[in-house]
Amino acid sequence: MPGLRSTDIPAGRALRLEGIAASAGYAEGPIFRLGHGGARYERRASAALEAEALTQAIDTASARLAELAGSTTGEAADMLEFQLAMLADDSLSGPALAAIAAGAAADAAWSDALGGEIAGYEVAEDEYFRARAADLKDIRQQVLDALTSADEAHAPAGAILTGEDIAPTRFLATDWSQGGGIALTKGSSASHVAMLARSRGVPMVVGLGEEPAEGNATALLDAEHGVLLIGAGGGEADAFRRAAHAFATRRRLAESHLRGPAKTADGTPVRVQVNIADPADVETIDIATCDGVGLMRTEFLFGKASGLPDEETQYLAYRRVLEWAAGKPVTIRTVDAGGDKPVPGFTVEESNPFLGLRGIRLSLARPEIFRVQIRALLRAATHGNLKVMFPMVAVAEEYRRAAALFAGEAAALAAARVAHREPPLGIMVEVPSVAVAPEPFAGAAFFSIGSNDLTQYVMAAARDNASVAALNAVTNPAVLKLIADVAAFGRERAIPVSLCGDAGGDPAAIPHLLMAGLRDLSVVPAQLALAKAAIAEATV
Ligand code: PEP
Ligand code: MG
Repeated sequence: MPGLRSTDIPAGRALRLEGIAASAGYAEGPIFRLGHGGARYERRASAALEAEALTQAIDTASARLAELAGSTTGEAADMLEFQLAMLADDSLSGPALAAIAAGAAADAAWSDALGGEIAGYEVAEDEYFRARAADLKDIRQQVLDALTSADEAHAPAGAILTGEDIAPTRFLATDWSQGGGIALTKGSSASHVAMLARSRGVPMVVGLGEEPAEGNATALLDAEHGVLLIGAGGGEADAFRRAAHAFATRRRLAESHLRGPAKTADGTPVRVQVNIADPADVETIDIATCDGVGLMRTEFLFGKASGLPDEETQYLAYRRVLEWAAGKPVTIRTVDAGGDKPVPGFTVEESNPFLGLRGIRLSLARPEIFRVQIRALLRAATHGNLKVMFPMVAVAEEYRRAAALFAGEAAALAAARVAHREPPLGIMVEVPSVAVAPEPFAGAAFFSIGSNDLTQYVMAAARDNASVAALNAVTNPAVLKLIADVAAFGRERAIPVSLCGDAGGDPAAIPHLLMAGLRDLSVVPAQLALAKAAIAEATV
C-alpha cells in the first residue's frame, strides 16, 4: 500500500505522527502500549533444571501456538506452522541448551540463541526476509513468557496498540470486533501482521518513528494516509471523523459491486482480474468475484530461506492456483528477480540493480534455473487455463529465446511421456523500448502493462523512493500516452492487452486507464471492490 504522507486533516495543536499506511482504515480509541509484563525469570538450582525449564517452556509455547493455529486458516495458519516448525527445530534450541550446559541461565541462553538468528534476518537485503525477523521475535517472546509464566495484559476493546512492532500471535489473540488499530514506530508493510491486518480490515500504520505516551487522550488513527493524532480536538477531530465516515461509505458502496461483472457507467464491460504473490492468497478470494488471475508473481517461491525451489515445489504451487481458478485464466509470470526483488543465491551484486541483470535477463543468463521453472509451468498447464508471461522484456530477441526454451522443454517432456501443455506466452510491457516501439513483439500471445516499472523508467523516478513519489505518476501524460499507444496497437493486431501494475487498483487512476483504451485490469485482491466501484462511476 503506498505510504501517502498527506491528509485532509488540518494540522493543529495535537501531537501528529506520520508514517506509512500498511492497512487502510480509521480507528479512534485509547493508546495501549505493547510491552511484556516484566516478570523476572528465577534461576533453577542446576544446569539440568535450567535445561528442563527451557524445554518445558518451548513445549508450552508450542501448545499455545498449536491452539491458535486450530482456530486460524490461510496466511495466518501458514505463519503459525512456520513458527511451530522453528520451535521444533534443534538448530534453535541446540545452541541454547549448549549455553545452559556451559553455565548460562535458560532465559539468557534462549534470548541469545534467537538474537543471532534475528539479527541475520534483520539485515537481509530482501524485505521478505526482514519481515520474517518479526516471526522469530514473536517465538522468542512466547518462550520467555512461558519461562516466567508472564501473560501480556489485555488491551481495552477498541484500543490503538502502539510499540516498535507487534507479534503476529499477539495480533491473532486480540479481539478486533470492537474496532481498534495498530500504530508502530517501526514495523513493515510487508510483514505478516500487515498482511493479516489488510485481510481482516484492521487499520495499521508503520514507521511512525516516535511512540506516543500512554494516557487518557484519545488517539485518532488515519491509516488511509498514515497519520496518528493524539489529543486532537475541535476541527481536527471533526475532519478525522468526516474522513472516517467517507471511507466507510466508500468501502460499503464498493462491496456492493464486488459480486457483479465490472462495467462502466455507460455500460462498457471491463475485465478485472487479481494479482497474487503466494498460492495461499487465493484462499481468501472467491473466484466468482474476479475474472481470473492477471498476475501471479513467482518471486515468493524464490525468496525462501530453503534456497531456490525445485520443480515439484513450483509445480504444486502453480497447480494449486490453477485448480482454484476452475477454468478461468491464470497468468503466471516467470521469476522477476532483481531490482526491488533481490533473491539471495540468484541475483547478482550490481551498482544499479534496477537497470541491471533482472527479470528475463537474469533467467536467460541462468538457463539451468529457468528450465526448472519452465518444466514446472508446462506440467502445471494441464490443470487449468494457464498463460505465462516474461518480465522486463526489452528486445524481441529475449522473447524468442525464452519461447525457444519453452519449446525445448516441452519436446523433452513429450519424449519422456510426461503430461504437459504449452501455454500461450506473453510479455510484460514495462520497459519503455517495448511501449514506444511494440511492432517487433507482435508475435507474443498477449501484453500485460507493468505500470509500476513503466512509470519509474519513463519518469526516471524510482518506485520505492518517497522523495520522488510525486514524479512517479502513472497519470503523467507521457506515461498515459504510451499506455494508450500500446492499447491501440493491441486492438490493431488483435493482441489482448491488460494492465497489472498497482495503478489498475487505484480508483483515481482507473478513469485515465479506461480513457487510454484499456478494458482489462488486474488488481490486488484488497482493491477488487474499490476498483469495480471506480469502473462503475467512469464513462468512456
Ligand atoms: C509492474 O512493474 O507494474 C509489475 C506489475 O511488476 P512488479 O511490480 O512485480 O515489478
Ligand atoms: Mg515490474
